[in-house]
Amino acid sequence: MSNTDLSPATIAAQAAGATDRETGGVVPGISLATTYLRGEDYGLIRPENVYGRDHNETVRQAEEVIRQLEGAAASLLFPSGMAAVAAVFRALPSGARVVMQTGIYWGTLKWVREYCVRRAILLDEVEASDAGALAEACRSSADMVWIETPSNPWLRTVDITAAAGMAHKAGAVLVVDGTAATPVLTRALELGADISMHSATKALNGHSDVLAGALSCREPSLPMWQEIAVDRHDAGAILGPFEAWLLMRGMRTLPLRVERMCASALALATWLEAHDGVAAVFYPGLASHDGHDVAARQMPHGFGYLLSFLVRGDRARTLDVMGRLRLFHRATSLGGVESLVEHRHTIEPHTGIPENLIRVSVGIEDMADLRADLAQALAE
Ligand code: PLP
Repeated sequence: MSNTDLSPATIAAQAAGATDRETGGVVPGISLATTYLRGEDYGLIRPENVYGRDHNETVRQAEEVIRQLEGAAASLLFPSGMAAVAAVFRALPSGARVVMQTGIYWGTLKWVREYCVRRAILLDEVEASDAGALAEACRSSADMVWIETPSNPWLRTVDITAAAGMAHKAGAVLVVDGTAATPVLTRALELGADISMHSATKALNGHSDVLAGALSCREPSLPMWQEIAVDRHDAGAILGPFEAWLLMRGMRTLPLRVERMCASALALATWLEAHDGVAAVFYPGLASHDGHDVAARQMPHGFGYLLSFLVRGDRARTLDVMGRLRLFHRATSLGGVESLVEHRHTIEPHTGIPENLIRVSVGIEDMADLRADLAQALAE
């Protein structure tokens, strides 16, 4: 049975076959060496290992898990999701044109806007969940189209296959940030994306204790991928072995965690939508969501662990609701086993995020406990 026949649960649980061949351990050790031996003839003892900035067995093992989960030809790990974003943008030539989904994760947009000014890259921001708007932006030639689906914190969904068609017509590479989906729910490369990106800090690791970013490609001969790989190798933005090992450990339970988180998120979104104290719920699993049909097609096993809702009331009422929560932690980030809430307006006050929006990352706690916590916090 080839690895491509294996389901995500099997790939993840067995860490894509990583064991400790030297000791016979079922779990691989952490390879800490920053440099590698040469023999008396000055030949490398292991030709694939020269120096720790370029090569590390533990990082390779974690990359192999992601590669198999993504159905990718190659995957690379970076020290954070933003380092992975930056690696992609650094591969663009000066003067390039980028079509970028607007209203996505604020950290990405902020850095990209500043970087594009510095490098004279023409940046066209577009509401990519609107297929007509994306098609219009792709009428002129471009080097790259960047989408994030579902988007953070609005949970907008973009049809990856349609976006790939438009991007390729414009001569552009399509990059998809699928952090809120994970490869368990959406394999962007199989839907036509050229590069798939994840903040592995989130659900891939899943325990709020590792910063990491992942890039995967369908076709390693893609010039942009080659640039990215050379830049990671030469400029040194590699993940540390401790983080890679922890990430591999976290990913063993990814499909299980995602299954539970999706079920709870859907149940909570449905419950919130019917609550008098809630003005609106944004979750692709709800039939009322604009992108529900697209999500149902490209997320057949669940709609993700992230949702946002609008409290009926003002900023003070919203912060009061958040302050009353006892199980949900008030903290930034998403995708961990513990549920989090965030008041995005406080983080990005000038970007149009409503003052009554609460973003929820649903963890693996008992759903009824989470619902009861929300119920007591929303009670008038
Ligand atoms: N992409 C998305 C959708 C995110 O939510 C985040 C972080 O919140 C990032 C990228 C950046 O990842 P990191 O925090 O690992 O740098």
